[in-house]
Amino acid sequence: MDKKPKTSPDPIDFDRIRDWVFDLDNTLYPHHVNLFAQIDRNMTTYVQELLQLEPEEARVLQKRYYHEHGTTLQGLMLHYGIDPDSFLERAHAIDYSALLPNPELGEAIKALPGRKFIFTNGSVPHAEAAARALGILDHFDDIFDIVAADYVPKPAGATYDKFASLHRVDTRNAAMFEDLPRNLQVPKTLGMRTVLLVPRNLDTVLMERWEKLSDEDDHIDYVTDDLAGFLGGLRTS
Ligand SMILES: [Mg+2]
Repeated sequence: MDKKPKTSPDPIDFDRIRDWVFDLDNTLYPHHVNLFAQIDRNMTTYVQELLQLEPEEARVLQKRYYHEHGTTLQGLMLHYGIDPDSFLERAHAIDYSALLPNPELGEAIKALPGRKFIFTNGSVPHAEAAARALGILDHFDDIFDIVAADYVPKPAGATYDKFASLHRVDTRNAAMFEDLPRNLQVPKTLGMRTVLLVPRNLDTVLMERWEKLSDEDDHIDYVTDDLAGFLGGLRTS
């Protein structure tokens, strides 16, 4: 059996899907918008001020917590007991003007049969601001954020369970869209259809990427660099 991810959506694979679950950052808007660079800088400043560190030291610690705990926030909560709400507010105090309305994406999401969710390691205000800027906020039924997850980020299994039980999602009839491969591992074991978003203009290197995908990437059903096109393909096929 060919385990390589597919690029064109096969409608049969999505026939049974009733719940559509989307990561936010670098998934609902493309990687090249680079909104996360602003959030990243805000988090560095937060760590710097909290612990009176030099910027470089703050950055090293921030990245260490990200790798060890899944998010910088989780590391800061565990080690310093910080107030998560003020951290999230500071981290997401960014300029959203780089996000432009994406009517094609909005139409494609609207046309999907069933419920649509945003499932993010960020906050609800951040998700709302981003989705509003994209002109797609109204098409979602709900947003599951890091607060709803008790600050335990994806890819922790407990967080997916919490999301699924809160919204009564039958994961066997759900699809998950994500830009981080590791965040698709649990969804696949739960029976979800998994779609990996990759940066644009990767047509030429996609083949190389596939060559590099190992058995560890079995959990990725599809790869695409064009979310609106992918979802539109489901509708028109
Ligand atoms: Mg993401």
